Order: sequence, then structure tokens, then C-alpha cells
Amino acid sequence: MKRRDLIKFLSAAPLAGGMIGTGLTTQTAVAGETLAASAGRDLFKELGLKTFINASCVCTSLTASLMPPEVTQAIVKGAEEFVLLNDVLDKVGEKIAELCHAEAATVTAGCWSALVQGLAGVMTGMDRKKVMQLPNVDGMRYEVILQKSHANGYHQALTNTGAKLILVETLEEVEAAINEKTAMLWFLNRELNKGKLNYEQWLALGKKHNIPTMIDIASDAHPVDNLWKFNDMGFDLVAISGGKAMRGPQSAGILMGKKDLIAAARLSAPPNSGICRGHKVNKEEILAMYVALERHIKMDHEKEWKMWETSMAVIVNSIKGINGVETEVFIPEIANNTPTLHLSWDSNKIKMTGKQLKERLWNGNPGIEVMGGGTMGGKKDGIELSVWQLKPGQEKIVAGRVKEELMKASV
Ligand SMILES: *Cc1c(COP(=O)(O)O)cnc(C)c1O
Repeated sequence: MKRRDLIKFLSAAPLAGGMIGTGLTTQTAVAGETLAASAGRDLFKELGLKTFINASCVCTSLTASLMPPEVTQAIVKGAEEFVLLNDVLDKVGEKIAELCHAEAATVTAGCWSALVQGLAGVMTGMDRKKVMQLPNVDGMRYEVILQKSHANGYHQALTNTGAKLILVETLEEVEAAINEKTAMLWFLNRELNKGKLNYEQWLALGKKHNIPTMIDIASDAHPVDNLWKFNDMGFDLVAISGGKAMRGPQSAGILMGKKDLIAAARLSAPPNSGICRGHKVNKEEILAMYVALERHIKMDHEKEWKMWETSMAVIVNSIKGINGVETEVFIPEIANNTPTLHLSWDSNKIKMTGKQLKERLWNGNPGIEVMGGGTMGGKKDGIELSVWQLKPGQEKIVAGRVKEELMKASV
């Protein structure tokens, strides 16, 4: 088959076009033809992927959040031209820094990557030999101090650099732990209330001993002033996820802070070789990250909050009259700062466990994912759900399904 004929054949044969893949798109465009085969494909259906209503959280395993049209547009447009990777990182970094009151910023492959890159920069400075040496920490400061209650899993990111973690609880313990090997003081925002030391104490320790401080605010983009609050407060580095509350690309995030530290952090990341060479963010997602951040800052958060309350009321109102049902709407103070429902019931009146309700909602049509299904934080067995990741109208589906299952299990 000649190339022209092959292209014609592919245009007419959706499956063949799909299997051969997108490599042909460019050639087809060159040939002045359109590859209609790739338009309108439903990949979820084609691949047998279960889609669901997310009444749960911006959790990584659930693919976190849905990108708004402005953000996906940035990805589509971004794919149409070549640019220098350093250029797009520079320009987007400048804009992000300005929006968030930071000296500098860079787009990273998520918050985890921001933690690794940021610490790598602290450890190596602008010394390219050290950049190529990590995770061998010879000749570098390599101890990171954090509070025990902040060691909840994400702190492991820091060890990617070869750093050693020193867990402390009290002010005296931090003072005793600081020495000439101390590289950084790390803080996890979501565990603020579990730790003995607050922001001011942590920052004062950094200042006193001239040691950089970093804070992880991964999913804490609500309230919106969290985006600049910690830069204003004086943290040297701030790390946040792009694809959680901000609804940017899931594989993007932001590292922002002091100019010299951001410059050093970038030495370990693409296009440079270094321990973050594998944390590549493509230009499309770098641009989309910027658009998502800008959108998040400019949007009407009061209006959004009212919408969440309205959606929550639809769900609560549909079930609160059921005999034995108890509803409590609360707002987590730090991470996932959004109306959240704790739903429980009298087990003599409704014969079902929280775990069973969670499973039945997941296995229904459409599938609905909720949180909990057990005793959450010492609360009564039941489920928890949130409405901030629902598409308009889905609150009615959730309300109807939860009611249906509660009624079915009522005795
Ligand atoms: C999700 C999360 C991370 C990791 O963020 P990614 O953007 O998925 O890399 C780090 N820290 C905390 C507290 C998180 O919740």
C-alpha cells in the first residue's frame, strides 16, 4: 500500500487508526488530511474503564480532581508548538511567583517531586558536582528535622535525596538535634494541630540557626490565601500539588520560595540531569499548571462555597428524615477544607455497616465513591462524603442512591 492510500485506509478504519497510534497524526497533517479516526473516541468505554462519581476526596488513587476546560485547553494549545523547556519553566515560574508572593517558583511533577527537588536544591546549592553526586550526600548537609506527628508518609519523599530524617517533638529536642549536618527544617501543614510546634516557632528556629524551612501544603489550596500565606510568613520553600484542590494536571505541582533555592532546585530537574531527571513535566502541563493556579486565584470562592453548601443540603435533606439516620456536616480545618458529611445510623434500625454502604454505592450504577466505611477518627461507624468534586447535578444522583440504600436496609 502506498503511503497516501494507507492514510486514507486509516482514516476510514477507526480501530486500525487507534492501534497504530498518534505517530501518524503529524504525517497525516503534513499530507493535508485529517485523521477522523481519533476524533470522538470514548477511551473509557473502549478500554473497559470504570468511571465513577467522586463524592470522596482529591485522593491520588481516585485521580484527584477534574481539570476545568481552561486547563485542558492550555494542554491542547500547548501541544501545538515547540518551546525551550527552560524558557517555559522560567516564564511560568515568574508568573506563579508573582501570583503567590514568592521570590521564584518552578513547576514540578506534583508535590512529592517539589519536596525532593526543593531539598535537593538546599543540599547542593549551585554546585553541579554535588547535583550529579546525589543521593550520595558526602560533603553536604543531609539531616532534615521534622516533628514526629508530621511523619505521616509523605515525608518519605525527602529521603529520595539521600537525606536522613530526624524526628523530634519538643522545642528542646529540635535545639538539641540541630548541628552542622542539618540541612532543613520540614513542616507538614495538614498536621499542624497534631504537632507541639507551630509555624512561628518553626520559622524562628530556622532563622536563629540559619537553616532553610520548607512547608508541604499539598491539598491545602482552600482557603485560597494559603497560596501566598506561607511565603509571606517566611517559609523558604513551599510545596503544593497542582492536581488536587487546584484542579490542574494531576502530575504537576509547584515549588516556590527563595530565588537562590529555586535556582538550585532546578539544577536537579529536567532539562538537567540529576536525581529529579525522571520528574519531567511536559510543556503542556507546565502551561496548564499556570492556568489552573490563575483560575483558582481569580475564581469566586464565596460562590463556589455556596454551591457546595447547596449540594450538601440536597443530600442531607433527602436522607435526614429516615428513621435512625444521623447526619453531621463539618469542615476539616486544614486539608480538604470543604463541607463534609459524616453519615451514621442506629444499627438497630438500619441493618448495614458503613463498609457495606460504601461498597454498595461503589457497585451501583453509576458507581459512587465515598470516604470512610468504618469508624473515622473515633466517630461512629458510617460513611463520609464531600461534594466539591461533583459535576453539577450529581448531588441529586448521590442523594438518591444513598437514600435508596438506607431505605433498603431499614427494618
Ligand atoms: C498528595 C500529597 C503529597 C503528594 O502530592 P502529589 O502532587 O501527588 O505528588 C504530598 N504531601 C501531602 C500532604 C499530600 O497530601
